[in-house]
Amino acid sequence: MRTVSCMAIATAFTPRLPSPLVPLDDERLSSVRLLLKRDDLIGADLAGNKWRKLKYLLDGARQRRATMLLTFGGAYSNHVRALAAAGQHFGFQTIGVIRGDERPYNTSLARAVEFGMQLHYMDRATYRRKRDPAVLEDLRGRFGQFYLVPEGGTTPLALNGCAELVAEIAEPFNLICCPVGTGGTLGGLAAGLHCHQRARGYAVLRGAQGGLEADVNDLHVAGLGRRLDNWDIDHGWHCGGFARRNDVLDEFIEDFRRRHGIDLDAIYVAKMMLGIFSSVVGGDIVEGSTVVAVITGAPFPGDLST
Ligand SMILES: *Cc1c(COP(=O)(O)O)cnc(C)c1O
Repeated sequence: MRTVSCMAIATAFTPRLPSPLVPLDDERLSSVRLLLKRDDLIGADLAGNKWRKLKYLLDGARQRRATMLLTFGGAYSNHVRALAAAGQHFGFQTIGVIRGDERPYNTSLARAVEFGMQLHYMDRATYRRKRDPAVLEDLRGRFGQFYLVPEGGTTPLALNGCAELVAEIAEPFNLICCPVGTGGTLGGLAAGLHCHQRARGYAVLRGAQGGLEADVNDLHVAGLGRRLDNWDIDHGWHCGGFARRNDVLDEFIEDFRRRHGIDLDAIYVAKMMLGIFSSVVGGDIVEGSTVVAVITGAPFPGDLST
């Protein structure tokens, strides 16, 4: 464990690292050994893959002497909340540009505001153009100079933080799995693997075939200078689309809670876990394999999944 703190106004933040690695005892998985990498236990609001992805980005912002971070996200974004927490812990002002001019507000955004984040609502048409220089220029006119953190915190700097997760795993394994939103986490895990290991992502968005793969390839080219061929994405478990759920998913979550006492986040983690269980039972994961499932975050009370 190490304590990270910087400017005087920052509050202490002690991530719980390495995150626990615990075997899951489940009769349905008799042909493989499944280990849970409990990144959801790293911290409270700044935890899971959001901490992994932001760690080096925050270093980069500090090196550039940035005082303000600006990011984008939907009203339920875990990333927006995590960035707000990071701002408070590490002494940055934060701006959250939220999709939708109906000015959505919920417990997640309320928490971000408690951490000192200033919210700015953006209509959907402009939001789609958020990478355009003109849109960014307009935001600079309004807020002054800021360090731009893209949606989901996914940049080449996220690769290193996620690759570190792999280095924490002291046991031999064959396959490591994670949910896929933007693909930053999957890309980082793949970058941290040894040559005989693979990474598999489970897409939580519908209709993302091809697009997500291209995004991960772009990230590898930008961050590593080359593509990797040790990963793939299973698109079969989105359960209707982003933040959607169906009976199969709901029953799986309920059953998992009863058997293991763990609440799975329905937007991301439960879809991955449903995919892993189905792949094992269906024989798509080789018998005798050791599989690591990364629990990338915890459910947030009041989000769409609860
Ligand atoms: C944001 C998030 C993801 C998605 O991660 P990407 O790197 O964008 O693919 C997965 N799981 C949880 C719990 C998240 O909050």
